[in-house]
Amino acid sequence: MNKIHFQEKFEERHIGPSADETAAMLDALGVSTIDQLIEETVPPQIRATNELALPGALGEPAYLRRIKTVADKNKVFRSYIGQGYYDVVLPGVIQRNVFENPGWYTQYTPYQAEIAQGRLQALLNFQTMVIDLTAMEIANASLLDEATAAAEAMFMQYSVRKSKAANTYFVSQHAFPQTLDVLRTRALSYGIELRVGDLGEMPDTDSVFGVLVQYPTGTGTVSDYKTLVEQLHARDISVCAVADLLSLTLLAPPGEWGADVVVGSTQRFGVPMGFGGPHAAYFATKEAYKRNIPGRIIGVTVDSSGGYALRMALQTREQHIRRDKASSNICTAQALLAIMAGFYAAYHGPKGLRRIADRIHGLTVLLDRALQQLGYAQLNETYFDTLRVELGELAGPLQAEALNNEINFFYQDTAAGISIDETTTFDDIEAIVRIFAKFKGKTINDIDMAGIAATTSTAIPQVLQRTSDYLTHPVFNSYHSEHEMLRYIKSLEAKDLSLCHSMIPLGSCTMKLNGTTEMVPVTWPEFSKLHPFAPSDQTGGYMQIIAELDEWLSEITGFAKVSFQPNSGAQGEYAGLLVIRAYHESRGEFHRDVVLIPASAHGTNPASASMAGMKVVVVRCDERGNIDVADLRAKAEVHAENLSALMVTYPSTHGVFEEPIIEICDIIHQCGGQVYMDGANMNAQVGLTSPGLIGADVCHLNLHKTFCIPHGGGGPGMGPIGVAKHLVPFLPNHRVVDVSKQGINAVSAAPWGSASILLISHAYIAMMGAQGLTNATKYAILNANYIKTRLEKHYPILYAGANGRCAHELILDCRSFKAAGVDVGDIAKRLMDYGFHAPTVSFPVAGTLMVEPTESESKAELDRFCDAMIAIREEVAAIEQGRCDQANNLLKGAPHTIASVSADVWDKPYSRSQAAFPLPFVREHKFWPSIGRVNDSLGDRTLVCACPPISAYEEADV
Ligand SMILES: *Cc1c(COP(=O)(O)O)cnc(C)c1O
Repeated sequence: MNKIHFQEKFEERHIGPSADETAAMLDALGVSTIDQLIEETVPPQIRATNELALPGALGEPAYLRRIKTVADKNKVFRSYIGQGYYDVVLPGVIQRNVFENPGWYTQYTPYQAEIAQGRLQALLNFQTMVIDLTAMEIANASLLDEATAAAEAMFMQYSVRKSKAANTYFVSQHAFPQTLDVLRTRALSYGIELRVGDLGEMPDTDSVFGVLVQYPTGTGTVSDYKTLVEQLHARDISVCAVADLLSLTLLAPPGEWGADVVVGSTQRFGVPMGFGGPHAAYFATKEAYKRNIPGRIIGVTVDSSGGYALRMALQTREQHIRRDKASSNICTAQALLAIMAGFYAAYHGPKGLRRIADRIHGLTVLLDRALQQLGYAQLNETYFDTLRVELGELAGPLQAEALNNEINFFYQDTAAGISIDETTTFDDIEAIVRIFAKFKGKTINDIDMAGIAATTSTAIPQVLQRTSDYLTHPVFNSYHSEHEMLRYIKSLEAKDLSLCHSMIPLGSCTMKLNGTTEMVPVTWPEFSKLHPFAPSDQTGGYMQIIAELDEWLSEITGFAKVSFQPNSGAQGEYAGLLVIRAYHESRGEFHRDVVLIPASAHGTNPASASMAGMKVVVVRCDERGNIDVADLRAKAEVHAENLSALMVTYPSTHGVFEEPIIEICDIIHQCGGQVYMDGANMNAQVGLTSPGLIGADVCHLNLHKTFCIPHGGGGPGMGPIGVAKHLVPFLPNHRVVDVSKQGINAVSAAPWGSASILLISHAYIAMMGAQGLTNATKYAILNANYIKTRLEKHYPILYAGANGRCAHELILDCRSFKAAGVDVGDIAKRLMDYGFHAPTVSFPVAGTLMVEPTESESKAELDRFCDAMIAIREEVAAIEQGRCDQANNLLKGAPHTIASVSADVWDKPYSRSQAAFPLPFVREHKFWPSIGRVNDSLGDRTLVCACPPISAYEEADV
């Protein structure tokens, strides 16, 4: 009998090539083992000598059993904590068909518009919803959370201030504490003076450039800011309102009382609390500020046939162009959650949303009146959903009784805050009343609940009641039955190419498998229904997940500790630089503010450095794409006095393990600086080497790249930072929940960022184990080198290591095609006809394609991709040789739609089947781009970022 295999290995599902395929690939590379390839690729001086110390790999069923026991350590109490996080009813049709559907969660940011119209439309719906509810003119397609959105607003107000001498930002003391915390962090690095206080006591000086108010306030009251805003505008002071979007269905929207920018969270629109995230924040402002808006904006344009088309507008790759001058470092945002919120609004429509808000408000009024009848003092005269009940000496006993009943309120001083949400029922209100009645020696029967409920009233002042319409567009008035909604979701999904169709070989983005088992626990109520500020004795499960992931990622990075606050890689960069600055300051070195960044760096590096208040000095790369060590040494020495850090990506964005990396880190340390490693390329390091081993002091990990969180069409993500021992004391703290004893102020609203998706990375590591993870890295390198071997006869490969090997990605040089009029963008569009998403276009080198296959693709898929690239090269050759017209050819005509190929008239110089079915495998599994090539410049000239009226669709739809 053969040896018994006690469990199926997840590693074999995660890694694409089979044993036979591996043998064939090694053969093609001319090596006998995968380890021989690794030896030729990774410099010996940085190779790890020991296997990672991680627990043994669990099979998929075993992992789910284990995580269920961990889930049981979380206690899901009724949450009335509020503070920006509310329980919701996530409609099943959205949960199953968007949140839990790889057709929606595995795509990348919609750079390739022709195969992304579905999510572009869903994000346009989100923008329209935000614009309508806030009554502003323009909105973006999401930011990371409410607190960072407020910080972005502050910076925008600062950038557009009239008087450059004005330096003070005045914030209402009634903003949420986490928002104040994040504002403090950002203000510090810009040198903005942050004043927190009572709006009535604002200093009457010229130094104030902006004001932030919260609506309703953090304590729940609804105030009329109209006169205040008029006075501030008369003094050239701009106003940001942080607003609860759901409340704006009932309240006069900030746009109607003069706010210049409105930000907030859309979590209440059907997105679970998830112990802090992920949720989409929104950002809306006036048309006049369109060039200062952080993040992505979706805009309307036309395609090659003149039809309606959507695309990302203006600052598509803003950081790559403007680098340290960019208006923000936002790269990954919260696309998937914004999409869900938009669908939630479409499903309920204006009437449904209003009904939900009316119910919430009505139940709050009911509770208020019942508590007053019991003799309690309720402190909020006006409110939408939040009461504050003064408890005096009852505070302690009442809290204990509430906990006995599995109920959480928000306790501050001697008052209890109670926030009602969409899930609250009449029975829930009765349960609360029972608790309060007990301390007045009464019972629920002493209160005429039904009687109070029958007499309607409102706690919203007349002047602040909303009278204007919203969500009048057909998108929000057509899909209220489940069948209509299901089909709408599916019709948009069908327009988008995702990992469900084919590999997405985006260099630097690591589009690997997002395993189903990794996703399953995320929507379990034990994880999704926890409030981030829930008492710690209710969150044991999460604490265990976070502690284990901290230990495992510390082992993988070779560092001492990990902070889970940053919600994206770029936020990790920002947080890491702040940690470095705090370290220098702890040694009395306040002046260190120079950051060296190689020319090949990702655009977020300089953008984050500038956000952290640092000066950027660019280090040259040599002709082989490596950091010019002599230039680095010279610049480090010149700036030694003020050197704060080096930001370096490893292996480099050129896809090479640079040999002198240890020397590079030494130079920086000798000059008194710290080394920040951009961990986006960790997929080439795990198990083989580590940032700690190489000599770095900090790195971020894009958990949405290397550690399997799906990209969600542009977010969510997580960018935790690992640090060496000497930096541990400076990791970010949090005002509401202590997570670090003496660290810097918070960088995110929630103490552990988007905690619920940490489960995905936890599952990945637990199911792969040390060997599986290391094999994944080896296969990532094998797959990239296999592509290199197949394509190098057809495309020049830009850079390689000493032995001619690339790391986990490679750059195809397309610059010479320019002579034939072929642009790298034409190749990207033509790939769509073959059913593939383009590699990364023109980063890090203009006119090139960067290909990263990841370990999860099989040889069969790699071969289809290579066949497509080779066929396209032949199409280019036909133009180069004059056999095809330079302006009218397969590449310029791409992508070809079903409408164009099936039209009665065909006037192209090539055949329909060449256009649509260029290789046999394409016929088997054709993915049709839903529109022809988009017109980028038209969209930027006339920016339209809300759903156009339906008449516009009809005109365009010829
Ligand atoms: C993806 C990436 C980033 C930015 O990460 P986000 O999570 O998108 O903010 C930074 N650097 C490099 C090299 C990257 O590839």
